[in-house]
Amino acid sequence: MKPKRNRQREADKSVAELSSQAPLASSAVRDYSRLEATAFRRDRTARLRTLVVGAGALGNEVIKNLALLGVGRLCIVDRDHVEPSNLSRSVLFCTSDIEYHISQKTPKAELVAKRVKEINPEVNVECFTGEIADFGLGRLRRSDIVFSCLDNELARAELSWACNRLNKPLVDGGLGLINSSSGLVSLLPGSHGPCYLCRKGTERRRQLLEELYGRDDPCWVEARRQEEQGLVSTTPLMASLIGALQVEIGLRHCFESDQECGKGRSYRLETHPQPDLELLEFARSPNCPLHQPESYIQQVIEITEHVWRDWTPAELFRELGESACHLSFDWPRTMGACCRDCHSEWQPMTRRARFRNSSCPQCGSRDVAEVEVLKGLPADSPWASHTFAQLGFPAGNIYEIAVGGGQMMRRVHVEFTKDLEST
Ligand SMILES: [Zn+2]
Ligand SMILES: [Zn+2]
Repeated sequence: MKPKRNRQREADKSVAELSSQAPLASSAVRDYSRLEATAFRRDRTARLRTLVVGAGALGNEVIKNLALLGVGRLCIVDRDHVEPSNLSRSVLFCTSDIEYHISQKTPKAELVAKRVKEINPEVNVECFTGEIADFGLGRLRRSDIVFSCLDNELARAELSWACNRLNKPLVDGGLGLINSSSGLVSLLPGSHGPCYLCRKGTERRRQLLEELYGRDDPCWVEARRQEEQGLVSTTPLMASLIGALQVEIGLRHCFESDQECGKGRSYRLETHPQPDLELLEFARSPNCPLHQPESYIQQVIEITEHVWRDWTPAELFRELGESACHLSFDWPRTMGACCRDCHSEWQPMTRRARFRNSSCPQCGSRDVAEVEVLKGLPADSPWASHTFAQLGFPAGNIYEIAVGGGQMMRRVHVEFTKDLEST
């Protein structure tokens, strides 16, 4: 079957690409010679594919530094829009037209990506507005290093799990952990090392895992509530320090370090009452359940003839040519729902966490109930004849399929590579 070009265009809409826009400054004047004798010389940075999740105070600093260093690709993920409170800590939002962007609720990722093109037109920039669970692991797979600039534990744990499955180094930054003069940078090296949850105590890890699998609210709801109550205090000073440390540690890890080292490292920085930097090394916790060998995505079958909008699990199962196929979901999905007020029924086909923050499409009531929740999809399910897009999966997703039965059961991973064509 020929690739369907029109549908492909639609597939690419979810991630906006700005690299084709006309440069806003001449790249001919750009001179990297002062970096040539450093770890960040041009032949290294120009090839590096980076992903930054979170475009708040910390994300602004990380993104600014990656733009100045001239990384080859910079992908920015954030779910929020710009607000007045961002302006005291986020340099990239300080533009002459920021009042317009605040009034228009411009997504942070979009605005920051535009600013990167102004700072350094040589960087290929992409932006995605949404949560990491809706981003599509295929794009994460094509990153060399991931920077976590998130403001809550749940989203961090989710991103760390995804990086661990794909063996991607993750540099997690945190602000205001003890007070506004403290911050933490952690390097989580990949599949062979610890994840974000390995450092948590048993009880906290259990709580976070419970929330991850069946959480009542998307992770940002609690973070937003805390911010509104003024519980999270951060300064542009600490954001600069932690953001710089993240980029330094992350890029040196890519360029210079022993990538097989299985240890994680954390740097705790305090600036008051005395400047102090403390290094802590840590190994994988034997009690952390996120390191089952079967959850790792090692080889991915790249399907190039179809995109996620035109193919169904039933067709994919047939293509794989094995019996007892089963599509496993990363997160539980709400397939059927009803409204307790107007009694209408509908098929949300979305992640459970997202459904639980939604309302009735008929009457707008928040009093909605789940009728059918699935954790996976067997070959004989009626849902298997819906396309992957109809089932609510993001473009560029990696699908986990169980093939064979009983003792012979194994997992394969599949992506529709043309979903990602623009990257
Ligand atoms: Zn772990
Ligand atoms: Zn209703």
